Amino acid sequence: MASEFSLIQKYFNQTSSQVDLSIGDDAALFRVKSGYQVAISTDMLVAGTHFFEDCAPYYIGWKSLAVNVSDMAAMGAKPKWATLAIALPEVNEAWLAEFSRGFFACAEAFNVDLIGGDTTHGPLNISVTIMGEVETGKALVRSGAKAGDDIWISGVLGNAALGLQCLLKNIDLTEAEQEICLQDLYMPQPRVSLGLALSGLATSCIDVSDGLLADLSHILSASKLGADIHLDQVACLPTMKHRLQEAIVKQAVLAGGDDYELCFTAPAKNSSAIQALSEQLSLPLTCIGKITKDSTLHVFYEKQPLAINTLGYDHFA
Ligand code: ADP
Ligand code: MG
Repeated sequence: MASEFSLIQKYFNQTSSQVDLSIGDDAALFRVKSGYQVAISTDMLVAGTHFFEDCAPYYIGWKSLAVNVSDMAAMGAKPKWATLAIALPEVNEAWLAEFSRGFFACAEAFNVDLIGGDTTHGPLNISVTIMGEVETGKALVRSGAKAGDDIWISGVLGNAALGLQCLLKNIDLTEAEQEICLQDLYMPQPRVSLGLALSGLATSCIDVSDGLLADLSHILSASKLGADIHLDQVACLPTMKHRLQEAIVKQAVLAGGDDYELCFTAPAKNSSAIQALSEQLSLPLTCIGKITKDSTLHVFYEKQPLAINTLGYDHFA
């Protein structure tokens, strides 16, 4: 049976360029440029809660890092270093090889060095800590929204949740829709370039992990403000647009989660700069409503108020 050390060596050791000392000692050592702050965040993925136990390990590897990279994007930080704590129910080398291939594909795509971690025996559980750098004082925090700001989202919302509902056989999707939605569920694309470019344009930002309404609510409570948003303006898969009245589709778009798009606020005067950024990044950026003074979140569909019964995913609700 392979030892813990040979597993780490075989599947998790890589050469790192952004550190002074990497995997193999009691701790890694890295430096940050002067004038920069370290942004740090942890996200855990648990089998049965965040993914099905039989999910392809490549996707689990990709997603466990991607959801963390997304938190750096949401702060306007550049992701650079990560640690990986993993509990494995058994040593399955084929599984580990695919997991690490997916993890490092994401690491390479976003220039992240794996610089340490921990490997233990236990129910499948993956916890990644990511660290990045951001110019001092320039991070995109949740508390900066101002009354009258536009509310924007990147990309389209709902695909990952529709993919999940399709796997659960709760909704019928065409083969083409299934392909797009499952791809978005398994391999979210964190919006790092957008987050970095939003510094100076956005007043607040969050990544949509638990669902648009839940995550926008975090901006609202941190900024002590409300919002009016228009479901008919929220970008979704084009072929789903006419199905937005169906409860399951509406739920997926507004509260499905797992989108890893950015939701941000900006004053109206920045709107043309944001549209130019959208062209430059080839990424749709859509204004879906406005921040209001009244500290409540209102959702409208074709100008009519919509009753909202659930904001999004809450692990303890
Ligand atoms: P220690 O007993 O000092 O905590 P470990 O034996 O846990 O050290 O780990 C040895 C080295 O391997 C350390 O540098 C640690 O950061 C790294 N490491 C352990 N598990 C992983 C992993 N899953 N991914 C990346 N690095 C790991
Ligand atoms: Mg250890």
